[in-house]
Amino acid sequence: MIHYTYATYRKALLNKETTVTETVEYFLENIEQNKDLNVFLEIYEEEALENALLIQEKINTGTAGKLAGMVIGIKDVLAYKNHGLQSGSKILEGFKSQFTATAIQRLIDQDAIIIGRQNCDEFAMGSSNENSAFGPTLNFADKTRVPGGSSGASAVAVQANLCHASIGSDTGGSVRQPAGFCGVVGLKPTYSRISRWGLAAYASSFDCIGTITHSIEDAALLLEIMAGNDQYDSTVSELNVEDYSQVNSSEKKYRIGYFEDAINSSAIDSEVKEKTFAKLESLKKAGHTLVPLSFPKMKYLLPTYYILTMAEASSNLSRYDGIRYGHRTANAKNLEDLYKKSRSEGFGKEVKKRIMLGSFILSADYYDAYYTKAQRVRRIIKDETDAFFKKVDFIVSPTTPTPAFKIGIKPKDPMEMFLADIFTVHANVVGLPSVSIPNGKNTEDLPIGFQILGTEFGEKNMLEFALNIQKIN
Ligand code: GLN
Repeated sequence: MIHYTYATYRKALLNKETTVTETVEYFLENIEQNKDLNVFLEIYEEEALENALLIQEKINTGTAGKLAGMVIGIKDVLAYKNHGLQSGSKILEGFKSQFTATAIQRLIDQDAIIIGRQNCDEFAMGSSNENSAFGPTLNFADKTRVPGGSSGASAVAVQANLCHASIGSDTGGSVRQPAGFCGVVGLKPTYSRISRWGLAAYASSFDCIGTITHSIEDAALLLEIMAGNDQYDSTVSELNVEDYSQVNSSEKKYRIGYFEDAINSSAIDSEVKEKTFAKLESLKKAGHTLVPLSFPKMKYLLPTYYILTMAEASSNLSRYDGIRYGHRTANAKNLEDLYKKSRSEGFGKEVKKRIMLGSFILSADYYDAYYTKAQRVRRIIKDETDAFFKKVDFIVSPTTPTPAFKIGIKPKDPMEMFLADIFTVHANVVGLPSVSIPNGKNTEDLPIGFQILGTEFGEKNMLEFALNIQKIN
C-alpha cells in the first residue's frame, strides 16, 4: 500500500489494483493506530470517504485531475473553508476558515483529498513542535524525540505513512528541518513562487508554503500545481510556472559549493559531519566539482532572521485581539482589559516572547539600531549569496547540525533551539529555493538530512540535481 510516488499509486488505481476508498481507509486506520504520535488535530473522515467515491468515479470515466485520489494533510496554518484553523494556538479556539488558501484550492481542483489538519508549533514559531498548544508530536523513528518544527507533525504524517504528502510552511526552515529529522523530502520554493493567500501570517517577507513528501517527484508535482500567479496575493510571482513534474535525473555535472568551516565546526554532530562529507565525496566521484566557500557572515544569519521575523510577527499577530477571532476572555472589566486578558490567556509562552521582543525592536528608540540594521544586513547577505552563485550552481550542507533531539531538553535554552535552524534560515533570509533530502541514518537509526540551496526560481534544476544525488547513493 505504500507508494513512494504519486505516479506509482496512480498506475495502481488505473490498473484497478487499489481504489481511492481503499486508500483513504488505509490511511484513516493508520492514523487511528498511531494516535499517540499526536499528528492530526482534526480528521475529515466522512468527507474524505465521500470525496473518495466521487473521485473514483472520475477515474473510472477518465475525467480525473492530476492529483486524483492523492491523500494530503495540511498544517494547521492553512485555510480550508468551513474547517477549523488554529495555528496550533488557543487564541484561535473555535475559529473556522471562511475561504480556502489558494494553494490548497489548487490541490482540491486536481482531485486531491484533504484528510485533516496537522499539529504544529504555535503560529509556526519553533523548531521542535513543542510550542503547540496541543502538546508535542512524537518522531516516528524514536518516540522520545522531537520531529522538528514547526511543520513537525506534517513531517511525521509522511514518515509514519498517515497520508501521501503534507503541505506545510517554511519561514526559517519549518518544512526542511522536520523533513531532515524524519527522513523525508521537504521543499521550500523561492519566496513568492506560491501564493500566501490563506496562510496564517508569521513573518510575511519570509513565509513560504512548502511540501513534505516521500519523493522528490511528488514535491515537484505538488509545486507545479500550487505555484503561480494569484489575484489574491499581490506579492506572488507572475513568472511562468515550469513543468516541474517533468523533472528527470540527468548526467549533468555541476559546481557545488559548501561552507567548509561551518560543516567542520565543532557544533556539528560528528555523524552528521561524516555523512555530509561522505556525500560530498560521492558527488566528486560522480564528476561534479566541489567548491569550498568561505562565509564569515554566516554568524549574522540567525540574528538577522530572528530580529526581522519577531518584528514582523509582532505586527502580524496584533490582529488577534479577542474581538475578531477565536478566544475572548470571560472576565474583562473594560476594552483594554479585554485585549490584554484575551491575548494573555490565548497566546503561549514562545509567541508572547516574540511579540514582546518584536515590539521592542520596532519601538521608536530602537528601530534603527535593530530593525533597520537587520534589513541592511539582510541585503548584504543577499548580495554575498548572489556572488557565491556566480561561482557555483548549488550550495549544499547538512539540513541540521544534529539529528532529532530528545523531547524536553532544548526549550530551557532558547539559543540552543535557534541553532537548530542555522543551515535552513539562509534560504529564507535571501528568498531562495531549498530542498532537504534524506542522507541515511546515524548509528541510532535517526535520519540525517542533506540540504540543497538553489538559485532564484531555479526549482526545476534544483530538483533535477536532487534526483541525481539520489541516484548515486
Ligand atoms: N524555527 C524557526 C522559528 O522558530 C523557523 C520556523 C518556521 O520556519 N516557521 O522561527
